Amino acid sequence: MLDALHSVGNASSVHHHGRDAAARVDKARRQVGELLGCAPGEIIFTSGATEANNLALRAASAQGGALVTTAVEHPAVLETARSLSAESSAPLVTLPVSADGIVDLAALEASVQGEEVAVVSVMLANNETGALADLASVVRIARAAGALVHSDATQYVGRLPVDLDDLDVDLLSLSAHKFGGPQGVGALFVRRGISLPHRPLLVGGGHEKGWRAGTLNVAGIVGMGAAAEAARRQLGDEAPHITKLRDLLEGELLAQLPGSHVNGARAPRLPGVTSITFPGAPADAVLASMPAIAASDGSACSAGAPSPSHVLLAMGLSREAADSTIRFSMGYATTEQEIRRAIDATLRAVTHVQTVMSGTAGP
Ligand code: PLP
Repeated sequence: MLDALHSVGNASSVHHHGRDAAARVDKARRQVGELLGCAPGEIIFTSGATEANNLALRAASAQGGALVTTAVEHPAVLETARSLSAESSAPLVTLPVSADGIVDLAALEASVQGEEVAVVSVMLANNETGALADLASVVRIARAAGALVHSDATQYVGRLPVDLDDLDVDLLSLSAHKFGGPQGVGALFVRRGISLPHRPLLVGGGHEKGWRAGTLNVAGIVGMGAAAEAARRQLGDEAPHITKLRDLLEGELLAQLPGSHVNGARAPRLPGVTSITFPGAPADAVLASMPAIAASDGSACSAGAPSPSHVLLAMGLSREAADSTIRFSMGYATTEQEIRRAIDATLRAVTHVQTVMSGTAGP
C-alpha cells in the first residue's frame, strides 16, 4: 500500500504511471477473485460493502418485481431495499427469522409464490450474532421463482472459505476491513453473464465497467488484494483457535452469571462473534464499567443509535433483553490471555451493574 501511495499514476491513464497503477489494480482483482473462487473480471471495486449492497440492489431492482430480504440484514441492505421500494412502489418483503436468527425458508417459499420477484437478498453471516444462513436453500427457492440472488457476505469472507462456483449467487458484497484490509474499500461480485441495467450511485467517467465512476483508490485496492491473499492462505487454520476462544468466553460467562444466554447459540455460527444477554445489566452501563474491553452494545455500524438492535428484536428478544446484550468479537490475533482478561472484566462489570440496578448497592 505504501508503495502504491507513492505512485502517481491514475489507473485509467495510458502513460507508464497509469499502466503501473492499472497493473497493481489487476493484481488485487486477481487476489480477491482467488479468495472468492471467481474470475477477476467479476469483481467491481467499491468504497465498501455499503456501496456494494446499494449497487447490487439498485441494479437488481431495476428489472421490476418485489424485493425480498430478511429482518436481520445490515442497514446497508434494509435501508436500501426500503428506499428502492418507496421510490418504485415495488413490494418489499422482510422475512422473519427463528429464535436463533435463521431465515424462515417456508416464509421465503410463500413470499415468492405467484409473485414477480426481482431479487432475494440474504446475508451469509449476521454481524451481531454470527448466525450463518442456509444460502444454498435460499438460492434454490429464489431461482425457482426466477429471482436474482444477492448476499451480503461482509462478515463471512476471509473468515470461512467461499467458493462462488458452489455458492450460486448472482451478486455478493464484501468489505476489506473485515479481513485485515484497509477501511473504505470493498467489492461487489457480479456473476459473468447476468445482464443487469446498472444504476450507478456515482455517474461520470464510467469506471469499473460503468458500475461506479471515479478515479480508483489504488492504494486501498492494493491493500484489499494483499489482505485477500493473506486471508486465503490462513483460511481454515484460524477457525479452530478462534472457536476455542469463543467457547471459553461463553462457557465462563454463562457459568458464572446465571440467567445470561448466548443469542443464536443453536445456529451454525461464525467462529469469531458472540452475542450475550446479561439480564438486568444494561449494556451501555456494563461497557462503561469495563473501558479496557473493546466490545459493543450493537453492531458498530449502528452504534450510537438509541434504538435497540433490530436483529435481536427480530429473534424475539424483548427490548429490555436486547438492551442488555453485548457483542464480543475476536480474530486470529486474539490470545487466550486477552479472553481471560475480558472474562474477568465482564464478570466484574455485569455483577456491579446488576447490583446497582437491583438497588442493593452500598453507599
Ligand atoms: N454489511 C455487514 C454485514 C456489515 O457488518 C457491515 C459493516 O460492519 C457492512 C455491511 C458495511 O460495510 P462497510 O463499512 O464496508 O460499508
